[in-house]
Amino acid sequence: MTSNKVGIYIRLSKEDLDKDKILESESIINQRKLIYKYAQDEGLDIKEEYVDDGYSGTNFDRPSFNRMINDIKKGNINVIITKDLSRLGRDYVKTGYYMEDFFPKYKVRYISILDGIDTRMDTVNNDIAPFKALFNDIVSKDTSKKIKSILKNKKEQGLFLGSKAPFGYRKSPNDKHKLEINKKESVIVKKIFDLSICGYSNNYIAKFLNDKHIPSPLGKLWSSSSVYNILNNPEYTGCLISNVWTNISYKNKSKVKRSPHEWIILDNMHTPIITKEMFDKVKKRRKISPIKRCDKQLLEGLVYCEECGCLLGANYIKKRGHFVLSCNGYKRNTKSCTSHYIRYDKLESLVISRFQNILNHLDQDKINRLNNCCNDAKENGKKQLRTLEKKLQYLYSDRLNDVIDVDTYKSLASNIHHEIANIKNSITKDELLPLDIDRDLLFLLIDKITINKDKVIKIKYNFKMLSL
Ligand SMILES: [Zn+2]
Repeated sequence: MTSNKVGIYIRLSKEDLDKDKILESESIINQRKLIYKYAQDEGLDIKEEYVDDGYSGTNFDRPSFNRMINDIKKGNINVIITKDLSRLGRDYVKTGYYMEDFFPKYKVRYISILDGIDTRMDTVNNDIAPFKALFNDIVSKDTSKKIKSILKNKKEQGLFLGSKAPFGYRKSPNDKHKLEINKKESVIVKKIFDLSICGYSNNYIAKFLNDKHIPSPLGKLWSSSSVYNILNNPEYTGCLISNVWTNISYKNKSKVKRSPHEWIILDNMHTPIITKEMFDKVKKRRKISPIKRCDKQLLEGLVYCEECGCLLGANYIKKRGHFVLSCNGYKRNTKSCTSHYIRYDKLESLVISRFQNILNHLDQDKINRLNNCCNDAKENGKKQLRTLEKKLQYLYSDRLNDVIDVDTYKSLASNIHHEIANIKNSITKDELLPLDIDRDLLFLLIDKITINKDKVIKIKYNFKMLSL
């Protein structure tokens, strides 16, 4: 029998610091205390300590973690102890990799004290490990959501958060969250609107500007699309638009455009270059066919044909008033597959009910943790409400003292009322499950859903299903 060469791994991240309740139990001192106590009880001598302070669990590029991996490869360490699985990592796929591939490959015994995992012993808990890793991933997603909502709040206060001011403006040297007019560029913006109102095409305007050697926003030549972008940007009327772009998911940082109803538009946030009337006039002049885009259905992109392997595409059937999914392979070539299709809404409710089932299998400890997250959110909501109500009072007194005009007052007040209504709505809702089943979560959990010619539905998950 090889001797035990024990390394302990401790991690503390900013995520943990945010929740003051957890701070106490997650602190480095406490993690160390717990592990030493455990090691002593088990008769294990600790040889090496690996501590990452201030590193998120979703990222595995942490200095001490890397050192530990190297020591394992060199054979210096063959036992790893952590307080719980989330200390190792909060990314299901990568934590799973270490648990299922890396540690076994180097014959490392892994112990996660609070989860009751000890890979040397064949305990029931070891089977649950992939599921716990998945859960840590979900908690991390929740944290990422919270950060997003903080950002969203900042945007709602009317701060300009873009990296670059729109052409015609610049960030104020006194306050980078405020836009002020860039005189030289604003003249060009006005000229573009003037020309458009006179009936000149975007192409003509671009040529006109290039002939005059006027640099475009990107420092290159003007094109009809750069002119189009200017004519289409309502921010020239003084409003601020934010919340337009979002990351695809908390792991994938690529940006996608949100649907316009999620955009946050605040009027009178900076000096206008173009009047609203002019902007609307130009808009009317342009006969641009509205871009056809429907919001993606929850499951779109996850459902495949089992017969030919093609994706199933969603189509709206006007006559029946619902979406159906049908095989893209058949649509492309009717000989390559059959026209089997399935009602989308039925499929979605089936998948969701299977999901609820899985979530119901989370043990009580997990459910408590989820509920805590929920209560935190509620407390936050109440705090926000108090701030907003104060804001309303200030606004009202500003109006009374004629600091702001009636229109500004109305527009700002209506924004605040709107926000208050939203928060009230969200904190009075008594949700059983604080996790929204959204596309992020589904893509995380589901590898794919297949449907065969007899409409038999199979769900392939990204984690071991055990007997759930
Ligand atoms: Zn097919």
